Amino acid sequence: MRFSGFRVIKEALTGYKGWGPLWRNPEPQPSYDYIIVGGGGHGLATAYHLAKVFGGKRIAVLERGWLGQGNIGRNTTIIRSNYLLPGNEPFYEFSMKLWENMEQEFNFNAMVSQRGILNLIHTDGQRDAYRRRGNAMRFAGADSELLDHEQVRAMYPWLNFENARFPIKGGLMQRRAGTARHDGVAWGYARGADLLGVDLIQNCEVTGFRIENGKVLGVETSRGYIGAGKVGVAVAGMSGKVMAKAGMRLPIETHVLQAFVSEGLKPFIDGVITFGAGHFYVSQSDKGGLVFGGDIDGYNSYAQRGNLPVIEDVAEGGMALMPAIGRARLLRAWGGIMDMSMDGSPIIDRTPIEGLYLNAGWCYGGFKATPASGYAFAHLLATDRPHETARFMRLDRFERGYVIDEKGVGAQPNLH
Ligand SMILES: Cc1cc2nc3c(=O)[nH]c(=O)nc-3n(C[C@H](O)[C@H](O)[C@H](O)COP(=O)(O)OP(=O)(O)OC[C@H]3O[C@@H](n4cnc5c(N)ncnc54)[C@H](O)[C@@H]3O)c2cc1C
Repeated sequence: MRFSGFRVIKEALTGYKGWGPLWRNPEPQPSYDYIIVGGGGHGLATAYHLAKVFGGKRIAVLERGWLGQGNIGRNTTIIRSNYLLPGNEPFYEFSMKLWENMEQEFNFNAMVSQRGILNLIHTDGQRDAYRRRGNAMRFAGADSELLDHEQVRAMYPWLNFENARFPIKGGLMQRRAGTARHDGVAWGYARGADLLGVDLIQNCEVTGFRIENGKVLGVETSRGYIGAGKVGVAVAGMSGKVMAKAGMRLPIETHVLQAFVSEGLKPFIDGVITFGAGHFYVSQSDKGGLVFGGDIDGYNSYAQRGNLPVIEDVAEGGMALMPAIGRARLLRAWGGIMDMSMDGSPIIDRTPIEGLYLNAGWCYGGFKATPASGYAFAHLLATDRPHETARFMRLDRFERGYVIDEKGVGAQPNLH
């Protein structure tokens, strides 16, 4: 089943009888060459690239719930490549390039919208830091522009320019950044992988690993034992719990992050804006709702829901930046569980157990990474070598002292 404008018109005229399910619902086989644990964005993108680019066969994705129920369907949909460090920026720019071609590639509308992101500047020191970041982005082939106060005011005149505690002095703009429909990304990769023969097995929780002589032989699941040549774990917020079943303790803590959507309003924000003096980011969905978020809840939790103090904190950030938001009613709020690493950067690496690989530590920034993460993890699984752009994302970097500390705040998940 291929999607096209012509097909949409044909289906409309013939009573929508030709649409079928997006993927099969297969029973698990006794064994596979590759098992990917976790049917979120990263797991599905890994399976897709493994089959499509690296010629992998006999691949299964095992998901404990339904595809897309985790963070991939809970995030605030921002995609960007505005990082500073060489361990991060080339990877995120690689991801940005994959986003730009993704929908044509897997023939699914994921509503990728390059509407731009503006990081606001509030101090002279911050302007220097953002100028440096903008230059680092350009070195990696990304786009960046430094805007002054007047340029920002012309774009968003309703921001708080009068009597603000943190006056807006300008902004760092990445015009190729933007948003994408988060669950559409999961469905697109799922459908693409299914068409390439990948078995997507839902309601199949991995409960343990069978490991002999330091080598993984397969996984124990709620639907029985499944043998595997290689096992890649991409379970985001559950990374610590799942890898503990293989006897590993990760440099990761799990925290809750909440997202918020207001009632539908007339269009007035055409890009993504982030507050540089607090933690608040906002965009407007095609339905008119303001989609916004802020800090993690700051305590360890595996519950996919948050608490009121952070809602108040995010609302304060919003009011400081755009007082008009106080007139809008909040429609929905939800939470997801974040795999917060100790330097704020991810891990795509082998583990000390032969045949067992880890993709984790995405903190609250893994949505934008989905395409590159899947590609790089598939590269690692297929070739046993790290992808060029992910070579610094090592599990042992914390022991060896090669951390990728993007914000320079150390091993404090609540500060990343
Ligand atoms: C509120 C919120 C806002 C965010 N905003 C942004 C943003 O704007 N931009 C951005 O880049 N990132 C954002 N993120 C982060 C981003 O969503 C995550 O980093 C990313 O989605 C994590 O990767 P994933 O999609 O594979 O995770 P998930 O979708 O969580 O996938 C992991 C899957 O593993 C499954 N699983 C767990 N345990 C097992 C098991 N034992 N057996 C089988 N399956 C298992 C889970 O059910 C889940 O489906 C946000 C996250 C949240 C919660």
